[in-house]
Parts: sequence; structure tokens; C-alpha cells
Amino acid sequence: MTVETLRYGDRETDYRVASADRLTEKILIHVHPNGDVEVEAPPNREAADIKVAVQKRARWIFENLDSAKDTQTYALPREYVGGETHFYLGRRYRLLVRAEPKAPSSVKLVRGCIEITAPVADKAAVKRRLLQWYRVRADDYFQRRLDHIVAGLEWITDPPPMKMMYMERQWGSCSPVGSINLNVALIRAPRHCIDYVLLHELCHLREHNHSKKFYALLHKHAPDWVATKAELDGLAELLLVE
Ligand SMILES: [Zn+2]
Repeated sequence: MTVETLRYGDRETDYRVASADRLTEKILIHVHPNGDVEVEAPPNREAADIKVAVQKRARWIFENLDSAKDTQTYALPREYVGGETHFYLGRRYRLLVRAEPKAPSSVKLVRGCIEITAPVADKAAVKRRLLQWYRVRADDYFQRRLDHIVAGLEWITDPPPMKMMYMERQWGSCSPVGSINLNVALIRAPRHCIDYVLLHELCHLREHNHSKKFYALLHKHAPDWVATKAELDGLAELLLVE
């Protein structure tokens, strides 16, 4: 194993290079949540070759390092105060809190901000309104995505009933009677991640467990589901925190 340094613009990071017998062609780069960068290469690859391959992915590596750092910063319980970062459909928004005794309560998306107006804008009130707003948005958005996805699946004629709840560590589940439960917090994820969870649960309407047949079905309708799942797993800590 060797340690190398990657430079990109004015940034630099160290990375470990290990040779992996199971690899024949590909060089694999991993950016771990703690900020470690690890490169796996086939045993016969030249060091210079590996360096070039890593340099080519420099931008991607630093983007992933930034999001790993975000996770450490943002995966903390929220305070529900102005200036805080909150997520919606994969984007980050700044929370703007306005206490207005006479104005009606509202939650709005305004230029990169989630703006909450309430007569009393303490932590409990802001949290309640924001979580309510996510639920209303999720209800509408998930239903539209569900209708869209169902239209392309031959084993379903009508969209199944959908129930929404806040869950601690699960994005969705499928009940034996054929209804789909979804975590409201999924509305914080990017659309392709939402679609993946919906499709996963819809596949369970035909294949009830995680059998080979189930994964074949999933793969047929979402060939890149592995990458999407990995992305969602990586975001989980950030999106499930309240
Ligand atoms: Zn499943």
C-alpha cells in the first residue's frame, strides 16, 4: 500500500493505493464518510497509470469529500432556527424564520430558502410547521411519481394505496395486503432516489421477498439501481435527522 497526494486547483488530499487481486481492469476510487480516499487497482497496473486515473476523477473526489464533510456538519439534530440548512428534493435550503403575531402561518420556498412565518416562532412551532409542510409536499409528490412509475409496470393496473409516516431508519415498506408505506423524510432526497424507493416497493407487489426474481425485476426497470441505492444510503444520515 502506498500513500499519494492528489492536487486539484488549490486543494489537495492524500489517498491510499492498494492492489486488489479481484480487479482485472478497473481502478476503483472510494471516498469514505470520514474523508479517507482509497484507491484499489489491479495488481499489474503501473503507479503512473493509477495517478493519471485518480487525477481524472479529481473533481468527483473533491465533490465527494465536500459532501462527506457536509454529513459531519449537517447530520446533527436540527435547532429549527434561521440560517440552518434543510433539505428538499435533494437540494439544500436555508431556513428563514419570521415571527409575525398577526400574519397567518405559512411555509414557502423563496429563492433557496424555506421561509416559515408563524405567530410564535419558537423551536417547537417551527419544527411542527416544517414537518407538516414536508408531509403535504410528500403526499402530493410521491403520488405523482407513483402514478408515473406505475404506468410503466405491466403487473400493476392501478396505483396501490399509499400511506405516509415518519420512520427512523426505513425509506419504505410494502404491506402484505398490498399498500405501500413511505417515509415522509424521503421528500428530502433527490427525485431519482425517490423513484428508486417507489419502484422497489412496487416490485414487492409482485415478488414479496428479496429473491433473485425480485432483483431481476428491479434491475429490468432501473438498471442503475445499485448506484442510486448507494447514493441514498450515503445521504441517509443527512436526510433522516430531525
Ligand atoms: Zn424490499
